[in-house]
Amino acid sequence: MGEVYREINPSTRTLLGPGPSNVDPRVLKAMATPLVGHLDPDFLEIMDATMDMLRGLFQTKNPITIPVSGTGTSGMEAALCNVIEEGDEVLVCINGVFGQRMSDIVERCRGKLTTVEADWGQIIPSEKIKAALKKVRPKIVAIVNGETSTGVLHPLVEISEMAKEHDALFLVDAVTSLGGVPVKVDEWGIDICYSGSQKCLSCPPGLAPITFSEKAMQVIRNRKQKVQSWYLDMSMIERYWGSERVYHHTAPISMIYAFHEALRVLHEEGLEQRFKRHKTNGTALAVGLEAMGLKLLANEKYRAPMLTTVGIPDGIEDASVRKRLLNDYHIELGGGLGAFKGKAWRIGLMGYSSTKRNVLNLLSALENILSADGYDVERGAGVDAANKVFL
Ligand SMILES: *Cc1c(COP(=O)(O)O)cnc(C)c1O
Repeated sequence: MGEVYREINPSTRTLLGPGPSNVDPRVLKAMATPLVGHLDPDFLEIMDATMDMLRGLFQTKNPITIPVSGTGTSGMEAALCNVIEEGDEVLVCINGVFGQRMSDIVERCRGKLTTVEADWGQIIPSEKIKAALKKVRPKIVAIVNGETSTGVLHPLVEISEMAKEHDALFLVDAVTSLGGVPVKVDEWGIDICYSGSQKCLSCPPGLAPITFSEKAMQVIRNRKQKVQSWYLDMSMIERYWGSERVYHHTAPISMIYAFHEALRVLHEEGLEQRFKRHKTNGTALAVGLEAMGLKLLANEKYRAPMLTTVGIPDGIEDASVRKRLLNDYHIELGGGLGAFKGKAWRIGLMGYSSTKRNVLNLLSALENILSADGYDVERGAGVDAANKVFL
């Protein structure tokens, strides 16, 4: 007979890592709504409202704007596998872990991969992209907007224009950026854009909102070969989310409830207000950390307000600091990824977690822990500097 385990009772944490972020209690409550069937008329209405609110968030009129069942990476797979056929030239911009992940997926889709790279913490020079475009004439240009491994927010408009000049589809990873900074799909000429539910949208992980332009849908409809993924084939998923309502896979009902509520919360706050809040809190954190003598690793001109990478000072032990933050203050930070492993902390201020209180609490907790470890920091400097931003 199986042992009967205790009911789960994890600690209440302040989630200030690279995702998931804390979830608004309204969203958790929506998840507890009783289930209906995935073709129930009430559910179809919820799907339509969800698509409508999602178009508002992506700032697009694209009919195909839906949440894919799966985490952010399923959005990445869906974006790439639907438009790549064997031998297609794909240009991927890499300045961190998630650009690398995109290239891996391109190769698994049997695309012909070309990469343009930049150092971690930097953006990719336009001339490099221009030269690569000329040389390989790709079908798709792909880039990460908010690189969560480095804290760089990459500008998109110029690359979009260059892609258009070469008649390439422009594909953008907005997993970290969507809901925290403007992502203007139509105005900026983005053909395919995907995100994740658990970062600035503050919903649990499990959905990947995605949008396809008409041009991208044409490419999908004109494929010679079937998409190699049955589950992520947009031409079939389109028939469930569109007017036909043909069963494809059972929608994760409770997650859609949650996502619907997260989008309601977001639109009640308003996009402009929400972007302003992320900017203010991100700036206050950055200024506070620098006042403590810490070094930020992303180029100052291109810092993402929702994700800050900060260098770990010499003589300070990464794991021990994060352990005490978690045990003594219930705050979760992220460790460094890839080239920044063991060298940086990643601090997220995403969605519901992006608050003045969280900024000030974190700066104060970090000050206590770092000074206990012998790091020379002027008492109160971080909190004072951050408070000046809030004033
Ligand atoms: C988190 C993240 C992903 C992957 O999302 P998962 O939900 O972990 O699958 C992809 N791209 C970026 C930029 C991310 O921050």
